[in-house]
Amino acid sequence: MGLHLERKVVRRVRRIAVVLLVSMVVLSFIYISLAVEFKYVGSAKSNKYHYPSCQWAQKTKQENLVKFKSTKEALDAGYVACKVCRPPTRD
Ligand SMILES: [Zn+2]
Repeated sequence: MGLHLERKVVRRVRRIAVVLLVSMVVLSFIYISLAVEFKYVGSAKSNKYHYPSCQWAQKTKQENLVKFKSTKEALDAGYVACKVCRPPTRD
């Protein structure tokens, strides 16, 4: 393999690596923004709001799931903090 060709290959590999890196960064940004789309969840059948990790939140059916971006949003909707997972009652 000539030195010239080697350099060409290295350049091409580098370009692919940059493209991969950039798309990974973009994808992780999209993933993070989806993940922080809501902080708390409640059920349409109750007036409690929970951390998404709460056992009660996980028992809530998808169709009844209400998502809140903030404590204020949950409180304004008339929800109260769950006594099991204890989400904050103010932001
Ligand atoms: Zn809870």
